[in-house]
Amino acid sequence: MSDVFDLTCALIARPSVTPDDAGCQQLIAGRLGAAGFTCEHLRLGEVDNLWATHGSGAPVLVLLGHTDVVPSGPVETWSSNPFTPEVRDGALYGRGAADMKGSVAAFVVAAEQFVAAYPQHPGTLAVLLTSDEEGDAIDGVRHVARLFVERGQAIDWCITGEPSSTAKLGDLLRVGRRGSLSAKLRIKGVQGHVAYPDKARNPIHLAAPALAELTARHWDDGYESFPPTSLQLSNISAGTGASNVIPGELQVMFNLRYNPHWNADRLQAEITALLDRHGLDYVLDWHRSGEPFYTPEGTLRRVAREVLAEFAGAAPEESTGGGTSDARFIAPLGAQCIEVGPVNASIHQVDENVRVADLEALPELYRRLIERLLA
Ligand SMILES: [Zn+2]
Repeated sequence: MSDVFDLTCALIARPSVTPDDAGCQQLIAGRLGAAGFTCEHLRLGEVDNLWATHGSGAPVLVLLGHTDVVPSGPVETWSSNPFTPEVRDGALYGRGAADMKGSVAAFVVAAEQFVAAYPQHPGTLAVLLTSDEEGDAIDGVRHVARLFVERGQAIDWCITGEPSSTAKLGDLLRVGRRGSLSAKLRIKGVQGHVAYPDKARNPIHLAAPALAELTARHWDDGYESFPPTSLQLSNISAGTGASNVIPGELQVMFNLRYNPHWNADRLQAEITALLDRHGLDYVLDWHRSGEPFYTPEGTLRRVAREVLAEFAGAAPEESTGGGTSDARFIAPLGAQCIEVGPVNASIHQVDENVRVADLEALPELYRRLIERLLA
């Protein structure tokens, strides 16, 4: 089997359930170091990060990925052990095969091939890996990006290997991601007997008009290739379990996926004002996952479109869909960011897999992107 296949299997066999790197980055640093990269291990809290560079100065191209994986769930629900790579019907099975040990292995092979062919290339080729993408994402790329700001480390272009393709390799180019903002809202009332409502304050009744306004609100009409901003309630609970008791509190969880019309500060201010207008007594806890980012037309997007078109036989769909990724921490450094990776149909699922043919094509896809940018 090929080099990228063997390296992917070696990574799958290391059970790097987030945030444990389980030796993946040591293996990769060994390879990249032998190819002439300078490797810096950044252990931050419980998290391993690897920053490997070849060449110097601008432009700086970063290949961004993660070595951690989500838990497998009950092993007996898998057709084969999630941490024992196995090929069946032309696909390689194992946790992380698609998200994203295959891409990481392809980065390594592409980077080795590129620096062997262009040892004196202009600028810097860098590989940045973290073991904290699937978990809290605090001491991973978020923290490393802060160090980059302190060091004055500029980044021009960033290619993330997240599995972006939908049906065939290269059919989708991710050019941005929506922002994500979550909230836990507690609306206070006064508990009492349903037969004596004048002696209680029903938080469900108090909240209902505010929640109706919140869910009916039209936030915007979308932004370039972004869909409109959306607020979704994900949970509502109140009640004591008894039908004759007015509960004392209502709890609501909601999440916003938003485009660059908005940022978290302005969304929080809008929602707080709405709740205040309804005169509610409430506590609101926010969790910010990341602001939206967007790479408009430019060198990186044009090059990627052309390379993917050669690969997939047609121009890729250019999308900002899906969840968010670690590119959200690199984009604020001023970098153009895209995401290109294998088919994402099985990610985070039982029997995660990548087609072997796609895996074997990935190093060439990444190498061509690197050549177009740095050769
Ligand atoms: Zn991933």
